[in-house]
Amino acid sequence: MSEIKKAEKIVGVKGMNDILPVDAPLWELFENTVQTVLKSYGFQQIRTPIVEPTALFARGLGEVTDIVEKEMYSFTDSMNGDNLTLRPESTAGVVRAVLEHNLTYDGPKRLWYAGPMFRHERPQRGRYRQFHQVGAEAIGFTGPDIDAELIMLCQRLWDDLGLDNIRLELNSIGNADERNRHRADLVAYFEQHKELLDADAQRRLHSNPLRILDTKNPAMQQMVNAAPKLLDYLGEESRTHFEGVQKILRHGNIPFTINPRLVRGMDYYNRTVFEWVTDQLGSQGTVCGGGRYDPLVEMFGGKPTPACGFAIGVERLLELMKASGEQFAPNQCDVYVVHQGDAAQLQAFVLAERLRDAGLDVVLHCASTNAGGSFKSQMKRADASGAAYAVIIGEDEVAKGVAAVKAMRAGEAENNQAMVAFDGVADYLVDQIVGADEHDHTEHVHYHH
Ligand code: ATP
Ligand code: MG
Repeated sequence: MSEIKKAEKIVGVKGMNDILPVDAPLWELFENTVQTVLKSYGFQQIRTPIVEPTALFARGLGEVTDIVEKEMYSFTDSMNGDNLTLRPESTAGVVRAVLEHNLTYDGPKRLWYAGPMFRHERPQRGRYRQFHQVGAEAIGFTGPDIDAELIMLCQRLWDDLGLDNIRLELNSIGNADERNRHRADLVAYFEQHKELLDADAQRRLHSNPLRILDTKNPAMQQMVNAAPKLLDYLGEESRTHFEGVQKILRHGNIPFTINPRLVRGMDYYNRTVFEWVTDQLGSQGTVCGGGRYDPLVEMFGGKPTPACGFAIGVERLLELMKASGEQFAPNQCDVYVVHQGDAAQLQAFVLAERLRDAGLDVVLHCASTNAGGSFKSQMKRADASGAAYAVIIGEDEVAKGVAAVKAMRAGEAENNQAMVAFDGVADYLVDQIVGADEHDHTEHVHYHH
């Protein structure tokens, strides 16, 4: 009996998921599409650190928001005592960076970011402790046109991803004065209906009453529906701005509904707020949230600078793409190289590099694994790899200066197997693969020259 105790497995942190190779094609399709769309509107990428000073979020998001009250991963840097936080969202970090590097010195900026965010929430479907957002921030733009542009950009993204089950909800939450007048009436109204408020709402009654409107508690819906509406408190400028957004959307054929109860979680929002919502994901149905945050730059010590942005919850959006029933092909290679014998292995390395030079995706059989060995077992690997072609090199082939090229999928080529001189293999395969591509545009996605 062995004295060595079997080591216990270490598992990942609850609510923080591994994204496995099986899902990689879906992520890549999403990431490529979103980058292309953002670029087509002139947005430039910015990458900010995952860790920021805790004060950035406390000040930026507001002390009484869900995130700052209970969801932040904050810690003390043991080296120097700094209070740090894993970013729960990116707007605060982006605005900090814009100020720090004076990025708007020569005019407004259209920026975008992507990456992991961290919130200590109860993990459930569509709600994780590490999740991903792709977002855009348009900094320095005053008018309703940029609000509408951001929304149209989202619509284009859904269209390009083939998603047609997302609807737009829109609202204006006015400015601070307008919200204060509304807030006074709202608190008075809630106090009249105190017996209907749940614990969450009780807690928020004086700290963040607007957020009560956002409740998901069915028992409170009727009461909340009849509460004073912020829209009725908007002044002339806020109303004109909101109408400006709607006008462009109508003209651009972007359907929307006005949801007077729509508010956003963070303190920094004003005027336009919007959410893209689907019914297909259960209760976590918001796939994207955004709006205007004109006060934020000044709150961070910058000159008054208007701004507007959105953030997409990537996991939820991918869930929706999966729900659409479309299959996302696994990443496959073009060519699998099979070889036997020392001389053949060396030759195989050279050939594989040449094929890659020609733009092909090539997997070289690894002879040092247990499964190395017979041609038959290697061909099984080649088959499993999904490669369109296997290139086979044995002692005979080395001696003759050729390689056997075998089409792995029926219908790929007229001659199932051909002997091709080493120097000609790359051209031969490119011809075959591009030729097949011309016949069937959907089949080949790997070859790109
Ligand atoms: P919710 O009301 O669902 O808690 P939120 O208002 O906290 O959302 P935002 O801060 O606006 O969300 O973030 C934008 C988007 O990021 C959300 O609409 C959602 O799609 C996604 N998101 C937010 N929190 C999570 C999470 N914990 N896990 C996965 N996705 C999330
Ligand atoms: Mg939340």
